[in-house]
Amino acid sequence: MTPYDVVVAGVGPAGLSAAAACAAAGLRTVLVAPSARVWAPTYCLWADQLDAAAGPLGLDPAAAAARYSPTVVRTAAGGERRLQRGYARLRNGVVHAALLDRLRAHGGEVRTGRVTGLVRDRDREAAVLADGARLTARTVLDARGGGPGTAQQRAWGEVVAGPVPGLVPPGGALLMDWTALADPAAPPAFLYGLPLDDGTVLLEATSLAARPPVPLGDLRARLAALLDAHGLRPAGDAERVAIPLDAPPRAAGPGTPLGAAGGLVHPATGYSVASSLRLGPRVAAALAAGADPRPVVRAARPRTTAGLLGLGLEVLLALDTAATDAFFAAFFTLPEGAWGGYLDAGSPPSAVAAAMARVFAALPGAQRARLLRSVGRAAARIRRG
Ligand SMILES: Cc1cc2nc3c(=O)[nH]c(=O)nc-3n(C[C@H](O)[C@H](O)[C@H](O)COP(=O)(O)OP(=O)(O)OC[C@H]3O[C@@H](n4cnc5c(N)ncnc54)[C@H](O)[C@@H]3O)c2cc1C
Repeated sequence: MTPYDVVVAGVGPAGLSAAAACAAAGLRTVLVAPSARVWAPTYCLWADQLDAAAGPLGLDPAAAAARYSPTVVRTAAGGERRLQRGYARLRNGVVHAALLDRLRAHGGEVRTGRVTGLVRDRDREAAVLADGARLTARTVLDARGGGPGTAQQRAWGEVVAGPVPGLVPPGGALLMDWTALADPAAPPAFLYGLPLDDGTVLLEATSLAARPPVPLGDLRARLAALLDAHGLRPAGDAERVAIPLDAPPRAAGPGTPLGAAGGLVHPATGYSVASSLRLGPRVAAALAAGADPRPVVRAARPRTTAGLLGLGLEVLLALDTAATDAFFAAFFTLPEGAWGGYLDAGSPPSAVAAAMARVFAALPGAQRARLLRSVGRAAARIRRG
């Protein structure tokens, strides 16, 4: 069979955006996954990230996402804070169809199959499929999702009839409410909420990070108690979220890992979709220029930044409910440029370190001492490996 320029394994946000961009860049591209169904999870990102990613992917930014303003954070220590930065929810059907159309319009192919291994053969790479077929190309992009990890973000979500102005600001997004589910006897959890296009509202009880992960049943029970207290009833399918936060990138070998497989998941937030949408066209441009795509992928997740964010995750894991609340009250007093830099796994290490120092300075004295103790424990844990 004639080799391709690019084989992309996986049709999540990372794989599909990279495949569409590669085809549009004139590369002979084949996308392979067990199924090319529309993505089920509710994917969100900052509105400016969507706007920046849309053009290079040929997406219409107005159609690709619902937008929210204000973006609200509530803490017991800091009250309600309305962030200026707009939030956005991908319209999965629109984005998925647009990217598949772009792939096919530029001659790209979609193949149903499970990749069981990647091999290198001289100057070629190949994806070996479960049925024994081999897809050979100059480059295989491996976007088959992340490994299990030991720390996870977990959430249980229910859709309720809207609006629920006491919880979610009309037209806005509730990014984090650390007061709604607060229980000093339980692991820290916050309420997340978004109005959906049909007038319903998605509410999620979220454990930002825990090792071992918080059982989904516990989050479901905490959300059910909150819904009862507000006289709300689930009115649709539940959303179950489990995002590994500390899964390492796939080991070096044939293929270039992308998205969650490439360690692009932010260790403290679980987000990777914005980074993946941004990366696809950059990888495609490198390949179209005959260059090695791996430096481009490495630049999307600088190693020192990943190390600092990993330390940040370990610190978060050690905080109880009150300390977590105080941490986010302080975090969102920072200027947007500072907290925004921390929330982007592609930021330079200096931006992440500066945000860490500023949060520390913004904390009350007692919380600073607690944070320092957790930093010490986290650093010791990282040293032990
Ligand atoms: C419910 C939920 C909500 C989330 N919400 C957000 C959010 O709001 N914002 C955000 O940034 N992140 C969010 N995340 C986290 C993260 O961004 C997602 O996990 C995202 O899907 C990762 O994208 P990906 O393309 O790297 O991998 P995946 O989406 O996991 O895609 C992997 C692809 O590889 C395919 N595949 C797997 N094995 C094989 C194989 N052997 N051969 C071929 N193909 C294979 C799969 O079928 C799939 O198509 C959420 C995660 C979940 C679970």
